[in-house]
Amino acid sequence: ALSISVGLFMIVVAFASHFLASRAIIPIRRSLERQRQFVDDASHELRTPLSIVRSALEIIDKREGDKMSPFSVQLLADIRDEMNRLSRLVGDMLTLARADSGTVEIDKSLFDFCFEAKRVVRKFEQRAQDKAISLTLEVPEQAMIYADRERLVQLLTLLLDNAIKYTPRDGAVHVSLQLTEELVNKMVQLSVKDTGIGINAEDQQKIFERFCRVDQARTRQKGGFGLGLAIAKWIVQAHDGNIAVVSQLGKGSSFQVLFPAGIKSSTLSKSVNFSN
Ligand code: ADP
Repeated sequence: ALSISVGLFMIVVAFASHFLASRAIIPIRRSLERQRQFVDDASHELRTPLSIVRSALEIIDKREGDKMSPFSVQLLADIRDEMNRLSRLVGDMLTLARADSGTVEIDKSLFDFCFEAKRVVRKFEQRAQDKAISLTLEVPEQAMIYADRERLVQLLTLLLDNAIKYTPRDGAVHVSLQLTEELVNKMVQLSVKDTGIGINAEDQQKIFERFCRVDQARTRQKGGFGLGLAIAKWIVQAHDGNIAVVSQLGKGSSFQVLFPAGIKSSTLSKSVNFSN
């Protein structure tokens, strides 16, 4: 009789907790749904006026450019710069809002990260040259990985953009990419190292937080909003990886990323052979 009553009691408890949990889950689900909807609406509402203003600026530039005074040309250039800044801010905020509400999908495929890394570095060559910064890349011949190609391109772009932004003239920026063999999986090791202004130990803890800019006055001039590294961290975490910084004030910084390549070595060689 005792075991029957204990059994009955357990069933009642299980039933009650299931009932209470589902009642609690429904409002959470509804609020997530509402947040998702808000992000979608906001994305559209913010992007439309931005693109209208941008095309209006292009038309003015094309039709009236030659007739404008140097003052107006400068004003137009300033407006264009601020528009681009605003577009970047809207894009970054939407990425993070979508990440929060779980609406960003990580779209994994098999691709060569070396090929993409070379392409990203090439895009920064001119900016590096303008500041007499030596920009070097060290990659193996091929690094086939299973990951979100677009997000990893965004990650390297963010780190490289910062490295060049925070490195004074005649400095050096070095990007290195390696695939290392671990017990169960291949690991991707990406590092972006610069000889720039560096970050002090206290600030190194904060820079991955949203809207964190070390020394506001100094960084505002350089046009950042303090969202880049928060996005970088989200991308790395979405790949089950880790991002860390080693830095010394006045000497330079090294951002190191480590994440699983998403395929076991046996699968890796098969996939490479297959794609060949
Ligand atoms: P921002 O848009 O301001 O560059 P980030 O989130 O990319 O925003 O970076 C946050 C802050 O971290 C920056 O404002 C800057 O102070 C610091 N930081 C990032 N990368 C570097 C770097 N390579 N060297 C020195 N400081 C850096």
